[in-house]
Parts: sequence; C-alpha cells; structure tokens
Amino acid sequence: KVALERVSRRFGAAVAIADITFEVPDGAFWVLVGPSGCGKSTILRTIAGLEQATEGAIYIGDRQVNGVPARQRDVAMVFQNYALYPHMTVAENLAFGLKMRQAEPGMVRDRIETVAQSLNIAHLLDRKPRQLSGGQQQRVALGRAIAREPQVFLLDEPLSNLDAQLRDDTRAELKQLHQNVGITTIYVTHDQVEAMTLADKIVVLDRGSIQQIGDPQSIYANPANQMVASFMGNPP
Ligand code: ATP
Ligand code: MG
Repeated sequence: KVALERVSRRFGAAVAIADITFEVPDGAFWVLVGPSGCGKSTILRTIAGLEQATEGAIYIGDRQVNGVPARQRDVAMVFQNYALYPHMTVAENLAFGLKMRQAEPGMVRDRIETVAQSLNIAHLLDRKPRQLSGGQQQRVALGRAIAREPQVFLLDEPLSNLDAQLRDDTRAELKQLHQNVGITTIYVTHDQVEAMTLADKIVVLDRGSIQQIGDPQSIYANPANQMVASFMGNPP
C-alpha cells in the first residue's frame, strides 16, 4: 500500500498541498486528477522522496518513509518529459535499473524480454532512442521504470506529449500492463477522460486539497461539490 496521513507541503507561505490523506491498497490503480497547480505533482514527488512533506506521514508498505532517500523507497516514477539515455540502446535503457542492482545477466535478459513484449517494443531493443517515435520512446521510459519491479509505480502525465491516437494506444497498453503485473500505481493527469477510463479510484484535487475520493462512476454520478461536478464534466 501507499498511504498519506495529513500530508502538507508548503513553499514559504504558499501551500502546495494541504492535509492530504488517502491509502492506495496493494495492486490498485489510482488516478489523481485536477486543474493545473492543484498539487498533483507535489503529491507524487513527496511519495517518491523528491520533495519532503512539511507535515504528515507517508507510508510505503508498512514503512514510514519520511526522510528516507528517494533511491531507497522502492518506487519508480515516470515524468511527462521522460529522459532516455541517448547513447544506450532500448535494451540497455530497459536494463539500466536492474544493472544498478547487480542483477544477473540471464535474469536481466528475461526480464527485458517480458517487459518489452508487454509494451510492444520487443522489436526495437537494438535501436537508439533517436531512432524511435515519441510514443515508442515513452513506452521505453515506462518499461525502464517497470523493469525494476518497484513496489510502487508513480506516473506524472506520462502520455501528455503524445498525439491522440498514440495516447489512446499507450493508455490501453498501460492498463493491460497493470492487469498483468499488478504493481500499485498512482497516475496523475488533468484529463478527466483518462481518469475515468484508467482508475480503480479517482482522487479529485483543487488548490492543494482533496475534493473527493471515489470510483469513477460514483464521482461522475454523485460529485461532492460544484468543483468536482464541473471538472468531471457533469455539472448540475
Ligand atoms: P500541473 O497540472 O500544471 O502539472 P500540478 O497539479 O502538478 O499542476 P504542482 O506542480 O504540484 O501542481 O504545484 C502545486 C502548487 O505548488 C502550485 O501552485 C505551484 O506553483 C507550487 N509549487 C510547486 N513546486 C514549487 C516550488 N519548488 N516552489 C514554489 N512553489 C511550488
Ligand atoms: Mg504537475
């Protein structure tokens, strides 16, 4: 599980996130959604350890991780502006996280095959990133994160710089991948359609605070307030 208990993060006097509490069960796929600046990335970054919470407690599994360095949190994060290693092949990029952990070569090869197949990039393993389309590069970035078999997978608008068709395809692949692998996933988007199609549970945020947590149908049918209703496209 990933749990936040009354987590806040301030930058000077500005409150980026306030009193955030939720618990994502093992294997679940949760989506954080809300307008620009509402605090989505800040929540992911505090879970990843790239940002420290000003208040509150963060748990990964049963371990409280406040103060634990990012490298030791067993999470993998994929950003909108993913960066592949340009001088490495796709296979080498995918292996990077594993190699860092002194994995056996045979095990690395098997793992890469599996991940590459599930993301439809198995035929691209010998190419360099510059020989790939944007969508293919993004899938390699997802694969590199997954290959490490993290306890938690954090995705910050990973599809937003893909065109509509590629976004649909990659979203479907991502959903399939989650069904196959079942890693606890927190996915950030400002796109309510993406939230509705991907999420087990949606967390709607506005101005640093949680507005509602619920499954997609109940959020759409019974929005907690005006903001949720208009943001999720179901105003009264
Ligand atoms: P977007 O959809 O545009 O990516 P977001 O929901 O991810 O937005 P955050 O990046 O989490 O929003 O930012 C939340 C608030 O915190 C914003 O008002 C932002 O300006 C502020 N903020 C984030 N990082 C910092 C920082 N390092 N210093 C000061 N303020 C920050
Ligand atoms: Mg953001």
